[in-house]
Amino acid sequence: MNTNVPQEPSLILIVDDEPFIRAQLRLSLQYEGYRTVEAQDGREALSVFHQLQPDIVLLDAMMPDMDGFECCTRLQLLDHSKHTPVLMITGLEDKESVDRAFEVGAIDYVTKPIHWPVLRQRVKRLIQQSHLQQRLEAANRELKRLVTIDELTQIANRRRFEEYCSQEWQCMAREQLSLSLILCDVDFFKAYNDTYGHRAGDRCLQLVAKAIQDSVKRPADLVARYGGEEFAVILPRTDVEGAVHIAEAICQSVRMLGVPHSHSQANICVTISAGVASITPQPNSDFQEIIDEADRALYQAKIAGRDRCQKYSKLLSSTTFLWKEVGK
Ligand code: GH3
Ligand code: MG
Ligand code: MG
Repeated sequence: MNTNVPQEPSLILIVDDEPFIRAQLRLSLQYEGYRTVEAQDGREALSVFHQLQPDIVLLDAMMPDMDGFECCTRLQLLDHSKHTPVLMITGLEDKESVDRAFEVGAIDYVTKPIHWPVLRQRVKRLIQQSHLQQRLEAANRELKRLVTIDELTQIANRRRFEEYCSQEWQCMAREQLSLSLILCDVDFFKAYNDTYGHRAGDRCLQLVAKAIQDSVKRPADLVARYGGEEFAVILPRTDVEGAVHIAEAICQSVRMLGVPHSHSQANICVTISAGVASITPQPNSDFQEIIDEADRALYQAKIAGRDRCQKYSKLLSSTTFLWKEVGK
C-alpha cells in the first residue's frame, strides 16, 4: 500500500431525530477530522446508508416512526453493510434495551448524556477494527484465489478444475442437463522443448492457455491447466454439438497463433489435439466418468492424426482397444 497517498477521512452517518444532538455530534466529530452526514429518522438513514456507504453509523435508539432498533435490523440486510459498525446512542439504560441493541446487530452502545471522550475513543476503535477486518478479508480472498490459479499460465489450476468439475457434475445431475468437457493436449511438445528450449516451451504454454481462454465465452465455462501441456475446458449446460463447436474453435485459434514448430507435422506450427465428452450425469455417479471419456477421445484424436478435435466414440474406443490388443 502506498502510504504517501492521502486517504479520505472516514465518513460517519449520524442518525438522531433531535437537531441539537445531531449538531453537537457533527461539530465534535468534524473537529476530530471525520466527515459527517446526517439523517433525522430511520428511513432517511437507510437511504443515506445505501447511497454513501459510511464507515460507521451512530444511531439514536428512540426515534418516532422507525426507531433505532428496527433501523439497525434493516441496515444489516443492505448490501455492503457487513463491515459497517453501528454504535447505538440512547438514553435507555435498562437491561432489555441494552440486550436488544446487541441483538439487532449494534456493535457497541453509549448512553446519553454523551460522554464525549468515551464516544471519541469508541468511534476511533470501531473504525480501525472495521478497516482491519476488511483488509484481512481482502487478503484472504486473494490467498484463496492464488491457491486455485496456475502460476505459469494464470488460468485455473488442477485443484480448481477438480473442485469445479465435481460441483457442476452434481449440479447437472440434479437438473438433468448435459455437462461437456474438452481435454486439450499440445502436439509434439516434447520435441518443441527439445528444439527451442524449456523457457520457450513455457512461453508457448502461456500463449496456448490464452488462446483457449479467449475461445470460451460463457461465465460458467472454466478453462484450467490440467497437467504439463494439457488443458481442460468445462462447459456446463452444453451438449455435444456445442462442445465440438468450441473444441474446433480452440484448435483453430491455437493454429492461428502461428507459433513455429519445425518438429511438428506438416503444419510447421504448434497445434493441439482435443477430446470431447458430453454426459448427462446419473444421480450419485462419479465425475471421473467424464474425465475418462474425454481422455479416451483425446487419445482417439491423437491416433487420428493430431491437430483436430474428436468427440468420444464407443465404437472407436473398442476398435482402438482391439488394435492395441493385436499388438499394433
Ligand atoms: P503428443 O503429441 O503425443 O502429445 O506428444 P508430446 O511430445 O506433446 O507428449 P509427451 O507427453 O511425450 O511430452 C509432453 C512434454 O511437455 C514433455 C514435458 O517436458 C513438456 N512439459 C510439461 N510441462 C511443461 C512445462 O510446464 N513447461 C515446459 N516448457 N514443458 C512442459
Ligand atoms: Mg500430454
Ligand atoms: Mg502433448
